[in-house]
Amino acid sequence: MIDVLVIGSGPAGYTAAIYAARAGRKVVLLTGTQQGGQLIITSFIENYPGFADPISGPELMEKMRLQSEKVGVDIVYDVINRVDFSQRPFKCFGESAVYESKAVIIATGANAKWLGLDSETKYVGRGVSACATCDGFFFRNKEVAVIGGGNTAVEEALYLTNFAQHVTLIHRRDTLRAERIMQQRLFVNEKIKILWNTEVRDIIGNDEKVTGLSLQNTQTNEMSEMPVDGVFVAIGHQPATSIFVGQLKTDDSGYIIKDSLSSKTSVEGVFVAGDVCNPTYRQAVVSAGQGCIAGIDADKFLSINN
Ligand code: NDP
Repeated sequence: MIDVLVIGSGPAGYTAAIYAARAGRKVVLLTGTQQGGQLIITSFIENYPGFADPISGPELMEKMRLQSEKVGVDIVYDVINRVDFSQRPFKCFGESAVYESKAVIIATGANAKWLGLDSETKYVGRGVSACATCDGFFFRNKEVAVIGGGNTAVEEALYLTNFAQHVTLIHRRDTLRAERIMQQRLFVNEKIKILWNTEVRDIIGNDEKVTGLSLQNTQTNEMSEMPVDGVFVAIGHQPATSIFVGQLKTDDSGYIIKDSLSSKTSVEGVFVAGDVCNPTYRQAVVSAGQGCIAGIDADKFLSINN
């Protein structure tokens, strides 16, 4: 019998597992398909305390994995497809096994959102991407566009200037949501042009790859076309909570609702941490902090309910 089953291998999952294991609990952490979570596709991190020099996302996650193993966490590569939280022990149905545990910590994170165009699906991997770090290299000396106005979009645009000839940031409003320091970096970069008040109506291609974008100005409704080789969609994220529908309370956007002062969910013994319950402060350090809370809460719960 597992004491604490942690679902997810981002900063929230690893931190929760480290705390629960150091409290003497038998902890199994299930990695999901993308071991290390979203930071695996993040280039450099400058705002995670403890690293005076920027550290790459994969490097930081590898350090967390090693630390988890060192304190006795059993790390298993598996993906959960269904859960049963109706009674204890809780049951989580993975692709390789069924896991029974006395407590569960959910740290499944969030995934990139897409525009929802048929052409977007058609050209994913052939010019359409949601990850500049993964695919930017393929656009050396090419024309690329980034869609969105948040930190992710700005970060992607800046990163793409390392490869692309020109980068056009396309945003549906006339002000950015991104932090001021990110905006400043964007505005001074001569390789980047910004198209304000503009929405992408379609992604144009020649059946093999992307060749352009069909755009509409949101103020004048005027339509235009723009030739591009690559499109990076950076319009936010959605929580990975589909397997918990009907089992746990979620908000209208699908984020798991947790108690404001702890990591408790609507089911006693099930705790939550990280982006899956946090649409606002989606930062590695926040997720790690929430993971710590969940690890401590799970241990306290087991002290009373073991
Ligand atoms: P955000 O939700 O902050 O921004 C999403 C952007 O996409 C908004 O500008 C939004 O426009 C636009 N958008 C949403 N839907 C559509 C659509 N259908 N069509 C066109 N545009 C759309 O998401 P991010 O991923 O940028 O950031 C999420 C969080 O992660 C933030 O808290 C951010 O600070 C953080 N982050 C921090 C980083 C760092 O510190 N290094 C790096 C990356 C993210 P509108 O503004 O009009 O709503």
